Parts: sequence; structure tokens; C-alpha cells
Amino acid sequence: MLNHAHSMSKAATNKANIVTVDIARPVYQKISEIAKENNRPIKDFVNELLLMNIEKDNFLKSYAPYLSKAGSHENSLYIKDHNVNRTAEVILKDHTLFCILDNSKNCIHVHFALALPELGKLNIKKPAAKKNISAA
Ligand SMILES: [Zn+2]
Repeated sequence: MLNHAHSMSKAATNKANIVTVDIARPVYQKISEIAKENNRPIKDFVNELLLMNIEKDNFLKSYAPYLSKAGSHENSLYIKDHNVNRTAEVILKDHTLFCILDNSKNCIHVHFALALPELGKLNIKKPAAKKNISAA
């Protein structure tokens, strides 16, 4: 019933709670496609996406306060570990995330890397062929 109540006062209240931001058209098109696939209004979808990302960052800060992003490269994510005062390099190896510091697929750095937005920048189509890290 509430959803159908398009009174003037409700519209005015909603407008007061809305700000406009610029989204690059290619990004908008991608988001729009995903929202459509999920059968969600794009504004709801974008708001949820942003809020969940902020909440995820807050969660990571309390889950592993001694870890922080140190950067990313084409095939690597760098994670500063303040517990051991080292930087862990996480790479994609045989389609699996792998931590060079711990020689592990299942350490805290891999878990942390999985939660980073930068994860999507790892070049999954070309898994470190030129650098030949696995032959080291
Ligand atoms: Zn590690």
C-alpha cells in the first residue's frame, strides 16, 4: 500500500534525501545491465552497491586491522601486513589466488585480497605468462 502512495508530500520528502552525482556513461551502462539482469531499479541497485562496499571496507578494518592495501599491478595485489612488517604479494596462479609471502593459497592475505575491489583488475585472461613467476 505504501508503495502506491505517490502523494506530493512523499515526493518532496524523497527529493530532499536525494543528491545527484555524475556517473561515467560506460560505467552507467554496465551497472544498468546488471541491475536489469537482477530485475532491480537502477537507483536502488546503485545505492545498495555503494553502501555494501562501504560496509565491507568497515568490516575488513575490524576483521584484519593489521592489513591494508599497498597497491596493485597488472598481475599482483600488494597487501601490507603490519603484524610482520612485510608486504604480501598476491598473484593469480593457475586460476587461483596465491600469496608469495606465505607460499599459500589459503592465508589471511589471500582472504583479504578476495575482498578488495582491486581484485577485478587482475588480468585473469592472461595469467602471468610473460613474468613466468611459477618457474622461480
Ligand atoms: Zn599470505
